[in-house]
Amino acid sequence: MQVLDVGQGSAALIDTRSHRIVVDAGPKIDTRFDAGESIVMPALRRTGSDRVDLLMLTHLDNDHAGGRQAVADRYPDAQDIGAIRRCRDGHSWVWDRVRFTILQYADGSNRNDRSCTLLIENQRQSVYLSGDIGIQAEHALVDRLPERLSVLVSPHHGSRSSSSSLFTRHVAPQWVIHSAGRFSRYGHPHPLVSNRYALECSRQLVTGLVGGITWSSADPERIFSQRLGSLTLAFAPGLHRLDESACVEKPTNPSVRRH
Ligand SMILES: [Zn+2]
Repeated sequence: MQVLDVGQGSAALIDTRSHRIVVDAGPKIDTRFDAGESIVMPALRRTGSDRVDLLMLTHLDNDHAGGRQAVADRYPDAQDIGAIRRCRDGHSWVWDRVRFTILQYADGSNRNDRSCTLLIENQRQSVYLSGDIGIQAEHALVDRLPERLSVLVSPHHGSRSSSSSLFTRHVAPQWVIHSAGRFSRYGHPHPLVSNRYALECSRQLVTGLVGGITWSSADPERIFSQRLGSLTLAFAPGLHRLDESACVEKPTNPSVRRH
């Protein structure tokens, strides 16, 4: 998985052995900046195969959907699901032994809460791309999420109105990626949110600070950041976290070695 640095916004590429998914395509700002053209397309060309099987938008806010057209134009055969076509809560499929499940709080009172979110699991690892869901949606969906995620792309860029304690305690991710701009004018991630994940011993990265981030289920304790290089769960400088003694790790799958 690659979580791209699109400034204040969100875009990710998911690769299995023979399939490729784009989840959100970053913002488009007038004619000055199109993250789809400038960031998503080069990442697609640079890595993996020259194809997109699925183009999924979590919702239609510009910071997620602005770059969509550039990707759709280049990959017209990509199946289009999520916010553009009707998001189907519970829809699930398997590609290359990886299970994908769409989760949506369809009764959400606003567009953020109705984000079309994606849970990705193989036998040992799990990743959740949470769109911009807020606390109500988190509470509605939390029981359907694994108790210890390998990677969470944090809800709503680490906004204070998301990442409730109930949610962070349940998902207790090993890695949290806040897809947020450098010096975000919204203050993402909010310090209260960072502290909640820190209490779960999560290692946190902000795309605007460390650049695009790559994680692979084949080497789950390692993450690669454009600017900092290779980081491990044991040693990841510049991350938001409390003193090590402040967090209490949940018991985890014994096959996953923890430091
Ligand atoms: Zn957003």
